[in-house]
Amino acid sequence: MDQQPKKVIVIGAGLGGISAAISLAQEGYAVSVYEKNDKIGGKLNVLKQDGYTFDLGPSILTLPHLFERLFERSHRKLADYISIRPLRPHWRNFFEDGTTIDLFPEPDRMAAEARKVGESPEAVRRYLEYSARLYDLVDRGYFQQGLDNARDFARFYSLGDCLRFDVFRTMHGGVARYLRTRYYRDIFDYFIKYVGSSAYRAPAFMNCLPTIQFRYDLWYVDGGLYGIALGLGRLMQELGIAVHLQSEVVEILTEGERVTGIACKGGRVEPADIVVSNMEVIPAYRDLLKEDAKFMRTLEKFAPACSGLILDLGLDIQYPQLAHHNFFFSSDQRRHFRTVFEKGQLPDDPTIYLVAASKTDPTVAPAGCDCLKILPHIPCIDPRHPFSRADYLALKDRIIDRLEAMGLADLRKHIVFEHVWTPLDIQAQYYSNQGSIYGVVSDRFKNFAFKAPKQSSRYANLFFVGGSVNPGGGMPMVVLCGQNVCRKIVEWDRG
Ligand SMILES: Cc1cc2nc3c(=O)[nH]c(=O)nc-3n(C[C@H](O)[C@H](O)[C@H](O)COP(=O)(O)OP(=O)(O)OC[C@H]3O[C@@H](n4cnc5c(N)ncnc54)[C@H](O)[C@@H]3O)c2cc1C
Repeated sequence: MDQQPKKVIVIGAGLGGISAAISLAQEGYAVSVYEKNDKIGGKLNVLKQDGYTFDLGPSILTLPHLFERLFERSHRKLADYISIRPLRPHWRNFFEDGTTIDLFPEPDRMAAEARKVGESPEAVRRYLEYSARLYDLVDRGYFQQGLDNARDFARFYSLGDCLRFDVFRTMHGGVARYLRTRYYRDIFDYFIKYVGSSAYRAPAFMNCLPTIQFRYDLWYVDGGLYGIALGLGRLMQELGIAVHLQSEVVEILTEGERVTGIACKGGRVEPADIVVSNMEVIPAYRDLLKEDAKFMRTLEKFAPACSGLILDLGLDIQYPQLAHHNFFFSSDQRRHFRTVFEKGQLPDDPTIYLVAASKTDPTVAPAGCDCLKILPHIPCIDPRHPFSRADYLALKDRIIDRLEAMGLADLRKHIVFEHVWTPLDIQAQYYSNQGSIYGVVSDRFKNFAFKAPKQSSRYANLFFVGGSVNPGGGMPMVVLCGQNVCRKIVEWDRG
């Protein structure tokens, strides 16, 4: 390496950007991060109001060992920076007929829940073995090697391996092959929520998702998930990474087939040897590089994952029937997926995710009160036919009606604090493509669940990190992506 460390600029301090910045600093690069908002973390965000603390973004931590690597490589321990603990049950599932099912990673407890509704524990066991085989296959290459496209796959995986991806089925097809009851089919189909896609359009290998949760557990961060951003922020500071907040990048400067630096709102210009964009691929090429329509068309297959209606409610009571994580299932989940992902309409009867962190963490709500984050998945913004705020607020009312009907009696009356973010707010806050909350959709017909590649095809020293590039959205995946993009940069830069 040269005497002077090479200068890397990271655009955006989401978890992907943070992971890339830390990994590159650990490799000896001089790293600075430019973030448009006034705090780091990106979608990992927090709202504190009137004694309530809400996770505005992620609320489920999985695969903490991928975060641990960032600390280990600096001879530190995650536990000294972030306090995490596993949750039981993982989730509580509510159905409109009054059935409730809890999910546990322990096989005997899982079997007891399955028996309650007539699902065969043996079928659940065999489904989870299928999931584990897919996870091991996907993890070995796609995740750990950072494979980016079909060519990389063909080089890494044997023909026999390729067949084991269960390529001719959808995710739902894989679920339905093993599980018989409507309850268990709906529950395992909904693991696709981790990447904001449809179980009827995602490829079958997305059935690897339950193994992420059951083999490696589901975790909570004491005080709320934003503790992850605080811990990683401390590590960045200790590694000497310069973080510039309220610094929106408005242009990536270029010279021929290389990028040379960035320009910020307000006129500041910074040169760089390498630029890593944590801004998603499509907005970055369109808005920062002003690429032409022909090039932008090549990116259309990297369509956005779903968006969400983020509803935070402070209550003056507690609902004893809730667990920390809860899912209220649509009475027709196939219709829900079709409405959101194929018709692009706001659903009448969505599956609703509801987090009540106050069930296990007394610091996030006043005594005797629940704080709820409610998140139905809804279509991302269609620029040709955008919904209005009034449309989204009407959906919010339908969601509250639905929760009241499914057992949260008088919910509306017990709301003492309310905060709503629509896809329009999400897009404005993070500049995500069409308000997507998980980056690129996993759709076997559009992209076979490949996201965009980490190295630009136009500018050799421009790289991307985060939910719009492989392996895609979700906190652990973008953290892994940061480590993988660092390896790619080092290989390219140092041969
Ligand atoms: C409501 C919600 C719930 C979720 N639940 C979970 C969950 O339970 N578990 C889970 O694992 N994942 C969950 N996710 C997904 C997870 O949050 C994301 O996949 C992940 O945090 C995305 O990280 P990222 O680095 O790709 O991008 P982001 O977090 O979007 O970061 C990109 C950053 O770049 C900044 N930026 C963009 N453009 C510019 C610019 N021009 N100049 C400067 N800065 C710029 C943005 O402000 C942002 O800070 C959830 C997401 C949401 C929104």
